[in-house]
Amino acid sequence: MNTTAPGANAAAETLSEEAVDALARAGGAPHAPAGRGAPHPHEALLSSRAANIKQSAVRDVFEISMQPGLVSLAGGNPYLQSLPLERLAATAAEIVAEHGLEALQYGGGQGTEELRTQICEVMAAEGILDADPENVVITAGSQSAQDVAAKVFCDPGDVILLEDPTYVGALNTFEAYEVDVQPVAGDEHGIIPSLLRERIAALQAEGKRIKLLYTIPNFNNPSGVMLAPERRQEIVDICREANILVLEDNPYGLLKFDGVLPEPLRAANPDDVLYLGSFSKIFAPGLRIGWALVPAHLKQRYYLASEAVTLCPPTLNQMLVSEYLRNYDWQGQIATYRALYAERCAALLEALDEFMPEGVSWTRPEGGFFVWLTLPEGIDTYPLLHEGIDAGVVFVPGAAFSAAEGPSSKLRLAFSAVPPGTLREGVRRLAPVLAKAIAA
Ligand code: PMP
Repeated sequence: MNTTAPGANAAAETLSEEAVDALARAGGAPHAPAGRGAPHPHEALLSSRAANIKQSAVRDVFEISMQPGLVSLAGGNPYLQSLPLERLAATAAEIVAEHGLEALQYGGGQGTEELRTQICEVMAAEGILDADPENVVITAGSQSAQDVAAKVFCDPGDVILLEDPTYVGALNTFEAYEVDVQPVAGDEHGIIPSLLRERIAALQAEGKRIKLLYTIPNFNNPSGVMLAPERRQEIVDICREANILVLEDNPYGLLKFDGVLPEPLRAANPDDVLYLGSFSKIFAPGLRIGWALVPAHLKQRYYLASEAVTLCPPTLNQMLVSEYLRNYDWQGQIATYRALYAERCAALLEALDEFMPEGVSWTRPEGGFFVWLTLPEGIDTYPLLHEGIDAGVVFVPGAAFSAAEGPSSKLRLAFSAVPPGTLREGVRRLAPVLAKAIAA
């Protein structure tokens, strides 16, 4: 096997400055104006909300990782090559040719009734059997559904509890609403109910107003962890007692590699959980179609807030998803994705077993896209990114995924978009970087 990284060093030389620069901006002071010299007078016009919006470290790393010669274990992109692209192209053309006046026109703010009804069938596969299309609001991906949730429930200073680590896009969205994001610690089985209870009591004692618990119970991004089935009801009960709404984000639920899917928190708790779903991981993210299943008593408020942002979700894309669910083997496609990601995850775990130095541990996911590495305490993985690029491999440092301040000794590896041989090569390049940091 070729043990050198062809092109990696050349690419790294031209990239290191850029990488450091981008990451400094991503993690830097949010109020700092871009570029050098005196701030533009328009800086004074910005809302404090806008100043809170940070550049996503993941997106920065993602751009860097597109450079030739680098093995990117950074981007959690779905692997779309197995989609029937030609047939989809024909279907899209047919929709425009036969229903163009509808497909290119404004639609209802809640989304088409047809797709909302079909989404209830998808949710039945996810384990929610009682969803009513009336309570489904179609959104521009789960990302925009999170944004609407923060907008509907949170005033500046209100608390959203997040399992730690959590999805960086949710963190950025909530912070943009000047929410006080508060981490709740978990272990390899997800949020620990007793710690959640303690955290809520401590925050309430400080006089904080806690509105939401945001959680990704299935194959968390970034940790890959699945919340243990036996903890699920207790977590909802704790939140109900404290009058906290659970915001359950489940884009990876159907991507469990095998075995029975655990019941979503929403399944038995229709009034206590606002459930978010997405076609991004089970079909195609570029269509930007996700949804919220909203408790009936909150539906109207949520729907109006969503409509105020987008007027309506994209009509053509909704019609394409509807056709896909009606006439294609969407369950078979999910089975294909599952097998593919299972194979890649196994290859990554095998390479970690083979190459990682003493002192590094990692999660062993049962689904999703990500593995989460832990280095010995005190090692900051942020500066290691630079060294990783020099060695020809890119990852995402852990600090991006935490509401807690300060450095992180963790890092995220994504296996979804990378073939097994390249995953192995990426880990082979990463191992000496981590070994050196541990030895230092
Ligand atoms: N939630 C989680 C946990 C995610 O990982 C992502 C995307 N990586 C999203 C939401 C956003 O998904 P969407 O494309 O549906 O906006």
